[in-house]
Amino acid sequence: MNYKDYIAIVPDWPKKGIQFKDITPLMDNGKVFKSAIDEIVAFAREKNVDLVVGPEARGFIVGCPVAYALGVGFAPVRKEGKLPREVIRVEYGLEYGKDTLTMHKDAIKPGQRVLIIDDLLATGGTMGASIKLVEQLGGIVVGLAFLVELTYLNGREKLKGYDVLTLMQY
Ligand code: IMP
Repeated sequence: MNYKDYIAIVPDWPKKGIQFKDITPLMDNGKVFKSAIDEIVAFAREKNVDLVVGPEARGFIVGCPVAYALGVGFAPVRKEGKLPREVIRVEYGLEYGKDTLTMHKDAIKPGQRVLIIDDLLATGGTMGASIKLVEQLGGIVVGLAFLVELTYLNGREKLKGYDVLTLMQY
């Protein structure tokens, strides 16, 4: 499957100089979306995953069908102020300034084997913060999966030591 045929590249969005990779055409096509999810599920099946974790918002779109197919739960990583109960927080650097990601304190049972999924790996900041959250809650990160990897941003450098699956690279 040539997944790249289903990624729309949008120049200068959300700001000048960024070539935004829009995954909505891939999600829009049932066969292509299913094939991409099935590849991540096959990767996960080798790892005895107990729980899928995904950062908002596109990590939910890719992560939830994988969790459903595996018959395991899904726990969301969200921006500050979105989760209603007690959370833990991790700050991470953005191009300008900082942001905070949170998870519910009881989202993971210590020792659970966790697969973290997002749509796209850019600098690795979002995934790096998500890994910290999972590990602080006692989860074992057994793999990381993305649809798209922007290799020129070297996100993999931040993810050294983890087993990373990406379905397409730019
Ligand atoms: P990172 O934290 O720099 O690796 O950026 C990855 C996060 O930003 C992911 O959660 C993506 O959803 C989002 N993101 C960054 N660039 C793009 C893009 O070109 N298309 C879609 N999402 C993107």
